[in-house]
Amino acid sequence: GLSAEAYRRRHEISVIGDNMPQPFTSFEVTGFPSEILREVHQAGFSAPTPIQAQSWPIALQGRDIVAIAKTGSGKTLGYLIPGFIHLKRRSNNPQMGPTVLVLSPTRELATQIQEEAVKFGGSSRISCTCLYGGAPKGPQLRGLDKGTDIVVATPGRLNDILEMRRVSLRQVSYLVLDEADRMLDMGFEPQIRKIVKEVPTRRQTLMFTATWPKEVRKIAADLLFNPVQVNIGNVDE
Ligand code: ADP
Ligand code: MG
Repeated sequence: GLSAEAYRRRHEISVIGDNMPQPFTSFEVTGFPSEILREVHQAGFSAPTPIQAQSWPIALQGRDIVAIAKTGSGKTLGYLIPGFIHLKRRSNNPQMGPTVLVLSPTRELATQIQEEAVKFGGSSRISCTCLYGGAPKGPQLRGLDKGTDIVVATPGRLNDILEMRRVSLRQVSYLVLDEADRMLDMGFEPQIRKIVKEVPTRRQTLMFTATWPKEVRKIAADLLFNPVQVNIGNVDE
């Protein structure tokens, strides 16, 4: 196979951080549990995408990550599969609240993430609840009451439900900010900061963004601890 250097060059991957693990250039070397490998095989995927290849080994080390990559590059599984493995290691009680929290800018994107979580995590008995505005709260609250490993939420609706004290984030130890640039453009920064105050500081935080402007750097500096930075392709600023 290709050396780490050659693989990174070929796929325009650049990394900033110490002790960088080798990219996972194939599914065989990931060491993922067989249920998960079966799902990726069934989905017809032949190899990890570049962002997955480089983010997975870093995320599995428990490190914080800022990943900058454009839409369509496979970022969702880039954070979901290490999240599944994090869940297995923790074996928390889903009745006490989620262990994995994913913040997403829109209802549509949040729904897609949940579908991906169910498709690839269902056979590992991972449960996922999706919270978004513009829909009644009842079914969402019932999903939380049943107990859930993962919550995927838009910041506004999650804040509403936090204010109602119908969910606890005290058990969250794997936090994902997906499409961080878009969430900031949409004015969600105050809600995000409020939510993160409810999440224990002993956690792993992963931020995914298509662009890397000043505002995104600032929130990354505030919410992440010594993150590894992974860029795919040219980064717009
Ligand atoms: P992004 O969040 O970067 O915009 P997505 O996570 O939505 O991208 O992925 C885009 C599409 O690629 C989805 O349909 C997803 O199922 C698919 N996909 C993810 N990983 C792989 C892979 N390793 N090989 C082929 N397709 C993949
Ligand atoms: Mg995405």
